[in-house]
Amino acid sequence: MSNLKLLSKILRLKGMKITSFWFKNRDRELHLAIKPYKNGCRCPECGRRGRIVRYATELRRWEDLTLMGMKVLFWYAPKEIQCTTHGRVQEMIPWAPPYSRITYRLEWRICALCQIMIQKAAAEILKMAASTLSDLLHRIINRMRDGHKIRGVKTLGVDEISFCKERKFATLVYDLDRSHILWVGLGKGSETIDRFFNERLSKGQKSRILWASCDMSRAYTEAIKHHCPNATLVIDRFHVVKALNQAVDEVRKDEWRVLDTHGRKAIKGLRWLLSMHSRNRTKGNTRFLNSLRNSNRRIHRAWVLKDEFEHFWNYSYRASAEKFLKRWITAALQSRIPSLRKFVGTLRNHFENILSFVDRNLTNAVGEGLNRIVKIVKNRASGYRNLESFADMIYLTIGDLDVPAQIPSHLRTL
Ligand SMILES: [Zn+2]
Repeated sequence: MSNLKLLSKILRLKGMKITSFWFKNRDRELHLAIKPYKNGCRCPECGRRGRIVRYATELRRWEDLTLMGMKVLFWYAPKEIQCTTHGRVQEMIPWAPPYSRITYRLEWRICALCQIMIQKAAAEILKMAASTLSDLLHRIINRMRDGHKIRGVKTLGVDEISFCKERKFATLVYDLDRSHILWVGLGKGSETIDRFFNERLSKGQKSRILWASCDMSRAYTEAIKHHCPNATLVIDRFHVVKALNQAVDEVRKDEWRVLDTHGRKAIKGLRWLLSMHSRNRTKGNTRFLNSLRNSNRRIHRAWVLKDEFEHFWNYSYRASAEKFLKRWITAALQSRIPSLRKFVGTLRNHFENILSFVDRNLTNAVGEGLNRIVKIVKNRASGYRNLESFADMIYLTIGDLDVPAQIPSHLRTL
């Protein structure tokens, strides 16, 4: 076997031929002069063979995967060809996408590593600067998403997330049936969500959305009502529970402020216990909460109301759920606790949309699951400086387009 053949075998080069090689920088770099083998002279647009019109163009360089810590670089001068449909074009490069400076294999490796680790660690492994890696990833994802269209959405979820230390917000739009993210946009106001509906969905697509879930922010609810005429809006359960828990905690805080040292001792450690779902409590926890009946009536009252509210999510008939909710509201108002009265106000504002939960137990559970992944992605890099790099990572890990799968399968070798 010749040296060139051996090298080609070790590097697993398919569809290309090495014509010569040399080492550089004290053997830290392996340079290969290569050329397409048996599949050259094809049009990058249609893949058909064309007539060569110009042989020697500028020599181009591509970076490939490292070999034993050694950088591997390809050199080739692409030919110019005449395609019958697309005219004079530069021939397709079988090992790399058009205009890319790196090979498909390296692109795939970047995607695969960035899905599971922080970019800094991936850059370390790939022996490149973190900023270079971030640029390359941005380009890969942009190319894949370019011209990509959202398809067949029936159940939409909208949520917000902060992604920056200076508390910048982004709006995430989910496809809750397929559990992936459709869109990431800067901001959390109505302009942001309007942008999604106007730019990404056609009128027909919007009318085919049957269910939508979001939090209680007016920007989202109004936008969904406006853009999706056939959608039933369900206020996300998670956000309702969160609002109620906050109201109950408000009571605890108020009590804490007015109590003396002895009284404070009695309600110590209540913060987490109050927001805990009854299912997760131990018997001791419940006993302690029940004992509040004698020591702190207000907190006890708030807690009982909160616990009762859990039943709402189990109803399967709208009429009985409505009756329950109305009864609960009366009880909450009678408690004369200001924060709970405020919560009742919120409930009343979104009454129908909260009740819709009964028709279809549409929780953002899928959305919350995705949110958790988004948070992991976020925490991995401990906050992103700009939305682009954050959005890149979201699209890469849970986007509606499986980015690594867009790279030709025979080039996905590691
Ligand atoms: Zn063509």
